[in-house]
Amino acid sequence: MAKKSIGPVRREFSPWESPDHPPFIEFRNVTKKFGGIAAVNNLSLKIYEREFFALLGGSGCGKTTLMRMLAGFETPTSGQIFLDGQDLAGIPPFRRPSNMMFQSYALFPHMSVEKNIAFGLRQDKLPASEIDGRVAEMLRLTKLEQFAKRKPHQLSGGQRQRVALARSLAKRPKVLLLDEPLGALDRKLREETQFELMNIQEELEMTFLIVTHDQEEAMTVADRIAVMDSGELVQVATPAEIYEAPNCKFVADFIGDVNLIEASVAEKTEAGTTLRALGTEFTLETSQTTDAGVGDKVWYAIRPEKVRIAQGRREEGAVNQINGLVWDIAYLGDVSIIHSKVGEGDHDTLRATFANVSRMVENPITWDDEVVLSFDRDAGVILTD
Ligand code: ATP
Repeated sequence: MAKKSIGPVRREFSPWESPDHPPFIEFRNVTKKFGGIAAVNNLSLKIYEREFFALLGGSGCGKTTLMRMLAGFETPTSGQIFLDGQDLAGIPPFRRPSNMMFQSYALFPHMSVEKNIAFGLRQDKLPASEIDGRVAEMLRLTKLEQFAKRKPHQLSGGQRQRVALARSLAKRPKVLLLDEPLGALDRKLREETQFELMNIQEELEMTFLIVTHDQEEAMTVADRIAVMDSGELVQVATPAEIYEAPNCKFVADFIGDVNLIEASVAEKTEAGTTLRALGTEFTLETSQTTDAGVGDKVWYAIRPEKVRIAQGRREEGAVNQINGLVWDIAYLGDVSIIHSKVGEGDHDTLRATFANVSRMVENPITWDDEVVLSFDRDAGVILTD
């Protein structure tokens, strides 16, 4: 049976679903130790041609080290890295068919934009007409035509970032490595630039590997995301799969906001699993199956936007309804996050997102309101670790 994809996809592109499709980049059992400590620990990963791939994780999880090994700035302690079928061992950075764009941009201050872009091509001794053609193409692609003669100090941060991108792309590397490329930009410019990056990547049909600790950035640009923790991959999947079907508490908690309800398995049937939330009288009817046995402790992960909240009474016969008392409301403009107390313990709260669709509400939900929280049987996922 064809695999049913979860959620929207950015484009019709999923070579990772074909087991015979050769990878473009492959990390095979790669370990990198600094002193006695493994920054990357026996990691295996396949990335495909024309993929926009994001390495995502908290500070110190090893994502930059992984990228630097691909670029040739670090040597693996053990394991192999392949690019387009070639073992990269012993190949210095400047001979690798990859190019890395650094967070600092590292532009030459005394050179104009076009000279910065042409620098690598001149070093490679390309014919002048070829250099001019490529520089013009890069200026167009990064929308920098009108700034060609300016020096970096005459540009804004966003424009400098585009020069660095143009310079990295001019040599037409097989893979572009982006290390926190948008870190210095403000939020609005960051978002715009994310879309530009995606368009450029599609137009050039290149493979992009981005390192970021910004989950929204990874979700926006990437075909697939690898979530890393302590030098290991925790989950590798499409943004929608990572969000809708996290494989553990760490991923559920790292990406977006989530309610993690501690529960025990009460009953398993063909139609799904019944859970008993610990610390409350609440029974959860889910359509999921689980490897956990009856009586085992699990967590039910449910996103706040999947929890409905309403004033009034419970609906007769409907599943997954729980009484709550509103104790905190965070107004975020487009939505409000409403925290309701659903049990006696300090942590027995449930967060629900409430969309503020109209400016005036006759009877808004407010502090100390008695509310009913409810969700569908397929709204969350059962996690065992
Ligand atoms: P950040 O988002 O903060 O850049 P990261 O996920 O990119 O983090 P890495 O830079 O890959 O993390 O570092 C992983 C671990 O390896 C960290 O504990 C770091 O201190 C360590 N490390 C990285 N480079 C070196 C080095 N040259 N010498 C010693 N330890 C290092």
